[in-house]
Amino acid sequence: MELTNLTIAQIHQGLIKKDFSASELCKTFLDKIKEKNKEIFAFLQVCEDLALSKAKEIDDMILAGYEIPLLAGVPSAIKDNILVENIPCTAGSKILEDYIAPYDARVVKKLKDQGVVILGKTNLDEFAMGSSTENSAFGPTRNPLDLTRVPGGSSGGSAAAVAARLSVFTLGSDTGGSIRQPSSFCGVVGLKPTYGAVSRYGLIAFASSLDQIGPIAKTVEDCQIVFNAIKGKDEMDSTSVEVSKIENYRSKRRASSSPPLRRSVIENLCIGVPKEYFVKGINPEVERVIKLAIKKYEEMGAYIKEISLPHTEYALPCYAVISCPEASANLARYDAIKYGEIKNKKLKIKSLFDYYLIARGEGFGAEVRRRIMLGTYALSAGYYEAYYLRAQKIRTLIKNDFERAFKEVDLIFAPVSPFLPFKIGERINDPLSMYLSDIYTVSVNLVGFPALSLPIGKAAPLQNGGDGLPVGLQIIGKPFEEDKILEIGKLYASN
Ligand code: GLN
Repeated sequence: MELTNLTIAQIHQGLIKKDFSASELCKTFLDKIKEKNKEIFAFLQVCEDLALSKAKEIDDMILAGYEIPLLAGVPSAIKDNILVENIPCTAGSKILEDYIAPYDARVVKKLKDQGVVILGKTNLDEFAMGSSTENSAFGPTRNPLDLTRVPGGSSGGSAAAVAARLSVFTLGSDTGGSIRQPSSFCGVVGLKPTYGAVSRYGLIAFASSLDQIGPIAKTVEDCQIVFNAIKGKDEMDSTSVEVSKIENYRSKRRASSSPPLRRSVIENLCIGVPKEYFVKGINPEVERVIKLAIKKYEEMGAYIKEISLPHTEYALPCYAVISCPEASANLARYDAIKYGEIKNKKLKIKSLFDYYLIARGEGFGAEVRRRIMLGTYALSAGYYEAYYLRAQKIRTLIKNDFERAFKEVDLIFAPVSPFLPFKIGERINDPLSMYLSDIYTVSVNLVGFPALSLPIGKAAPLQNGGDGLPVGLQIIGKPFEEDKILEIGKLYASN
């Protein structure tokens, strides 16, 4: 039995039947990380002691005859912008190189309470700004399916860890696509929950009106289990809400479970496909594979309807003008006094202003500095109304588009990314071409809705042969309808 291929439910069964112990499982993953991380670089930190002691705790519980939660003993990894107590948390930045998390993020606490084993912290673009994980100050992660290509970003380490079977599931964060796009590039499942469904207490903030934490896993079932474990209101995050609507959807569905549940769910389903998402610029192979998947849902009995999201073309600029100012405000705290220090001790520092200038210049990478400059500019006196305020108005128009669409349809299907996983180095020197990666994902963050990235197949092999690269379908739902998205996602694999 290949332990690293098991799903959460299979691990649970294996543990209670004593086919293997949590410690054995944990060691198998740790060994595999030691072997593979050199080439993939999905992990920034491996917390061997923490992982082994948790696994032992679970083994002791099993031996003592206690019932264990479903997630107990399951090896996981956490994006390195989410705090795990007493473990370094760098956010992929030099400025936080020596920062040790003083407490657990709420999501981490919830996972620990369930007995989850944390193997380590995964690589990311610095402060989650990027689409390829090449912006990490510690070096890029490689796509396990093709080591010459990027794994996507910013949660590239989290997606690569799952794809390479170095972790059963991982947590990522999604501000403009950072869970969905790397999941799509690595052929795994990723969920961006509704804004407010999961507490962000202990997440290093990027753009606070957009950030959400969510799971990445091999299967939709695993994503659902993890999402259910981390969701819910938290008094430490005032934007978090109770997700009772999710329960309602579930119980309604159970009540009408005959005729057979699966068919009845799909046969009453109307899926909207936005025409603005299939225009010039989309890779023809991506378009072909996405359309095949939509056809498959049609054959299962869903009704497919073309819809329009007319303000789509403004989504990317709107995202930039909202996320950069928010980032510039959030990143103001990294002053090398509270966080970080000046490493080059030989520099002559004449004033406090000098100090900040040197510390921030030294500590932040090019992309982060670019966004801070754009953000402070857009917030400066006289420009605030012209930029930030205007973008907020456009955000409302985009939200209205989605609300109008969801009056006619139950779900929206779209590509996750307009292109296939690209080569390392291909876009990194051209920020505008990098930003295009986010064209289909940022709207969902601007409106706060939930969306799943579902691996639906592979593009045709490239000229040099080998396997085709993975393509992800984006399933967008109404707020707090994560379960509906997940149930529909599950149907793909089982049909
Ligand atoms: N790729 C997007 C960006 O560069 C989104 C990042 C994210 O979701 N954290 O901003």
